[in-house]
Amino acid sequence: MRRGAHLHFITSPDPPQGAPSGDFHDSTRGNRSLPTPRALATGAHLRQNGAVSADIDALDAEFSTLSPRRAVARALERFGEDLVISFSGAEDVLLVHYAAESGLPFRVLSLDTGRLHPETLRFLAAVEERYQLRVEVAFPQASAVEDLVRAKGLFSFYRDGHGECCQIRKVEPLRRHLAPRRAWITGQRRDQSPGTRSTLRPAEHDPVFLGKDGPLIKLSPLWSTTSAEVWDTIRALDIPHNPLHARGMISIGCEPCTRPILPGQHEREGRWWWEEGTKKECGLHTGGAPGPE
Ligand code: SF4
Repeated sequence: MRRGAHLHFITSPDPPQGAPSGDFHDSTRGNRSLPTPRALATGAHLRQNGAVSADIDALDAEFSTLSPRRAVARALERFGEDLVISFSGAEDVLLVHYAAESGLPFRVLSLDTGRLHPETLRFLAAVEERYQLRVEVAFPQASAVEDLVRAKGLFSFYRDGHGECCQIRKVEPLRRHLAPRRAWITGQRRDQSPGTRSTLRPAEHDPVFLGKDGPLIKLSPLWSTTSAEVWDTIRALDIPHNPLHARGMISIGCEPCTRPILPGQHEREGRWWWEEGTKKECGLHTGGAPGPE
């Protein structure tokens, strides 16, 4: 098994920003100034550099022709240690499988919000066992969680929306862990949310997060894959999956904000069901952070 290859990334401490990192030294790093909060909120940081835009257009054109399996391998070839695969504890395990198949070293990042189902945590451990890797788990800042709970209680999101809690438990820790990277892979698909993901591209600048060189590249190899195709592949390859799917939970997040859906309902209707469909993102994939995801 490629245990050593996988652990190469996991056990190597992250270099300080701007410092070279062994075999993955990138001569393009420098002291580029990061965008202001206003530029970040308006997306101006993505438009100000024509070369960067041209690069992302070329990347998008290339990745739009690749199968999900090939797209994962190509991303690992191109970005190496500067890339992280996001794993949400759901069917995006397929991306981890493709990465393992590639034979290339890779790193996997997941979030433990403190409100996950125990089944999701056990599933994460099962994935580590199956693929002989250690998932990099990001946790929220304890003081921020304590302040929120002290001020508003444990279930404030039912009263005033999930934005604030998601910002503390998801967006901030992910921002911290993505900052040293140049690109990340997500399991997003267009068919996951007609309200928020219908314009998803296979490669784009992340509307929320910055990497070490400025705009972070977001790659979504499953962008045009349907839910049925993902599940057909998971079953055919006999890949471990979250047992909550068998209980009618299709889109799986935190325990208080996820519920089973009925036949005919869209998968996203099981998330934040007390809110409008257009707000069913947690802030990880929408511009203008902070705000509802
Ligand atoms: S999904 Fe719910 S519990 Fe989890 S971070 Fe968002 S609001 Fe909080």
